[in-house]
Amino acid sequence: MSDYKFFEQVNRAFDKAAAYTKFESGLLEQMKACNDVLHISFPIERDDGSIEVIQGWRVEHSHHKLPTKGGIRYAMEVNEDETMALAALMTYKCAVVNVPFGGAKGGIKIDRNNYSERELERITRRYTFQLMKKNFIGPGTDVPAPDYGTGAREMGWIMDTYRQMSTEIDAEGCVTGKPLSQGGIRGRTEATGRGVFFGVQEACFNKEDMKSIGLDEGVEGKTFVVQGLGNVGYHAAKNMVDAGAIMVGVAEIDGSIYSESGIELDKLMDYKKETGGVSGFEGTQTLKDSSSVLETECDILIPAALENQLNEKNAKRIKAKIIGEAANGPTTSEAHEIIKNRGALIIPDNYLNAGGVTVSYFEWLKNIQHVRFGRMGKRFEEDSYKRILSVIETVSDRKFTDKELKFLAKGGGEAELVDAGLKDTMVNSYNEINELRKIHDVDLRTAAFVNAINKLGEIYEQMGIFP
Ligand code: NAD
Repeated sequence: MSDYKFFEQVNRAFDKAAAYTKFESGLLEQMKACNDVLHISFPIERDDGSIEVIQGWRVEHSHHKLPTKGGIRYAMEVNEDETMALAALMTYKCAVVNVPFGGAKGGIKIDRNNYSERELERITRRYTFQLMKKNFIGPGTDVPAPDYGTGAREMGWIMDTYRQMSTEIDAEGCVTGKPLSQGGIRGRTEATGRGVFFGVQEACFNKEDMKSIGLDEGVEGKTFVVQGLGNVGYHAAKNMVDAGAIMVGVAEIDGSIYSESGIELDKLMDYKKETGGVSGFEGTQTLKDSSSVLETECDILIPAALENQLNEKNAKRIKAKIIGEAANGPTTSEAHEIIKNRGALIIPDNYLNAGGVTVSYFEWLKNIQHVRFGRMGKRFEEDSYKRILSVIETVSDRKFTDKELKFLAKGGGEAELVDAGLKDTMVNSYNEINELRKIHDVDLRTAAFVNAINKLGEIYEQMGIFP
């Protein structure tokens, strides 16, 4: 849909929520505005020696907290409006999950499949160089991360380019989602999908809310459909399946598949690697196009691809009782109303996919502290647990086996601490917005915006407007 305006969609949801807050209109306008918008064009040399001009953007939406933070997207759909919308969503998302960053986003308008690895490296390094020149990157300024079409490899190139040209001691903190060997953190790759799972699970644990949409409590046994088996979609689906949910449908670019009895995720991933798509996967029905499966019977629908997927054209045919927005902006405001009025629960993007930025925050902290989480405390904790267990053995006459001792006396290393921090964040934030939902009698998206606006407004009121 060419007339789709993503930034306007985000602002519409903001305005709806602003009515439930106490802030004056000028302040609300300041919260919505994108502070800095950078559009760059730069040349790269293709492998065949030809020159191509590449378009890129970086938008810093809000400087109320620094650094600003947000992913970098490589896709043909990238444009200024999309980057502004995604940057704004980052501001609200960070506020909802209490991550002390302003929002930002970047994008390069390319189809990554049309470029060799060497060409992608040249594009990424040149883009980073341009960001440095304009002061749009740095551990205290603006810190990118992976998004659609990018991953740890690209973040490694960004970090290396930045470090080559910087003498800062905290240079590693200029980007997150890096490979572990370059200052990354355990659990970042899977963080967004795992956070999606924690959020959906928390919603499903709420007996009263589940009853109101005609579902039982818990994730186990619930059927789900996922759109996009990339980083976020795969890890969300993996966690859902591990918790006993049944994946009945999958949509990918090449088409969509359905099986009432469930689809084996790991086998499907092997098949996708082999064939480049999901169509024709054994034991499933291949549907007529990639969006048909979104309209099939299921308890939970997880859009994890791009924005504008649930829109006024298909919203009436969506049957899922829970929509878990793993992608950014998958539901247009018109579709949101249709789906909500049918009685479904929409768990919004500005909360649900915040697991990525939460763990990126932990990675940034690790980089500026120059120490891995758990490095100093893990052994101390384990020794303390062992002392307690040995007292229990003495007083109770019960001898623990080596296996029990290993399990009971385990201290928190980086992976465990990151996972605990992620779960705590997703669970607490869900309950915070669900509480606001009830207080104002609104939907969860509006509640998440109210939550963000209240937090931003308080900061702005205390800061005042400079000068
Ligand atoms: P990705 O590139 O790893 O995967 C996206 C997948 O979606 C790909 O497999 C692609 O083939 C598929 N896809 C694209 N268009 C499709 C369509 N029309 N139908 C079905 N499948 C389609 O990207 P990602 O990092 O997983 O990001 C997905 C979404 O999650 C984006 O909206 C992104 O902004 C959001 N998000 C990502 C992160 C992160 O940490 N990567 C964090 C927060 C939000």
